[in-house]
Amino acid sequence: MDDTVSSQVRSETDLVKMNLELQELRAQQLDLKVRNENLQKEVNQLRRENAQLKRMPLFVASVVEVMGDGEVYLRQQGNNQEYLTTVNEELQKTLKPGTKVAVNNALSVVKIIGSVFDARVRVMELEASPDVTFEQIGGLRQEIEEVREAVEYPLTRPEVFRRLGVEPPKGILLHGPPGTGKTLIAKAVAHQARATFIRMSGSELVHKFIGEGAQLVRELFQLARERAPSIIFIDEIDAIASMRTHDGTSGSAEVQRTLMQLLAEMDGFDNRGDIRIMAATNRLDMLDLAILRPGRFDRVLRIPLPDEGARREILKIHTRSMKVGEVDLEDLVKGTESGTGADLQAICREAGMNAVRRGADAVEQQDFTAALAKVRSEPSLRDDRMYR
Ligand code: ATP
Repeated sequence: MDDTVSSQVRSETDLVKMNLELQELRAQQLDLKVRNENLQKEVNQLRRENAQLKRMPLFVASVVEVMGDGEVYLRQQGNNQEYLTTVNEELQKTLKPGTKVAVNNALSVVKIIGSVFDARVRVMELEASPDVTFEQIGGLRQEIEEVREAVEYPLTRPEVFRRLGVEPPKGILLHGPPGTGKTLIAKAVAHQARATFIRMSGSELVHKFIGEGAQLVRELFQLARERAPSIIFIDEIDAIASMRTHDGTSGSAEVQRTLMQLLAEMDGFDNRGDIRIMAATNRLDMLDLAILRPGRFDRVLRIPLPDEGARREILKIHTRSMKVGEVDLEDLVKGTESGTGADLQAICREAGMNAVRRGADAVEQQDFTAALAKVRSEPSLRDDRMYR
């Protein structure tokens, strides 16, 4: 009986305790409800502020580096101003060097616009394997052979170099007047080696992609690694590697950084790897000697104006697919001294157009004579880019 009484008393005390706990929990719940309401108000307020911020004009910046602790190093486009800002953990995970972001007045990242990938597509020309062959190049036998030795054979016969312990040149620089076939040779070598051809224009890099030069150079080498075997062809390299860049004028620091990146990429490069580097310039005299040091562009090759024999060959190449009547090509060969391959191509194209205009059955001497006069008087016709 005693036992029953004591257990009854225990359960009553338990009940009282539980009741107290319940009251306590209810009080806590009420508390949390109030806090929740307050937080909800805060969220709504922040949402309103956020929407307000997004309505304000935003600036475009690109990510230079993602540092630790949520810090991001940004470079604003247009004025090239650089600064550090902090982003939340989630955003930090999605940002990479080159990502384009929108920043507000307070320089906080508001949203991601895209990556630098689109820029790289615009500035780089990529061909899986160009369709240019050596048969499409007139003259330049010796030059072509030298380029093949330095660029093609290390890709197609690496074992010969390994067996002989010979280091192929790291980079090859072609120089000479515009329109003499430098790009053509690079493409034909890529075709022969079944390599990806990646062309980047130095001047476009400097003028159109201010603030992104160094990053694009990094991307260029990255792309070449992904698509190996590949041949990188940097056209108008003088735009990024000219001595003028030391004069401290505006933009020169940026160009200097682009050049430094290029040199760093080349220095960290294996000569015997499956990526070859070529460059071209019309202004060898203006080049910064740093790029001609051993281990960089250590083979320099002049691509001259075509001589008589080469001009004959080039004219034949560019009239190959035309229906040509009684035409004395020798007259043209003689009349085009100091003309480039691009001039000769322009003459053939113009002659063809003249024949089309006449409604003729074949391209005749008169068409070539008129074309020669026209191309001589209008140097812009030499630029085949006009016709692309
Ligand atoms: P730039 O310095 O202006 O870039 P480039 O030396 O690279 O000029 P290319 O782009 O190779 O010149 O040549 C332009 C065009 O001229 C070619 O597409 C080709 O049609 C013609 N051409 C130039 N040289 C030759 C050549 N040796 N044989 C046949 N065609 C040629």
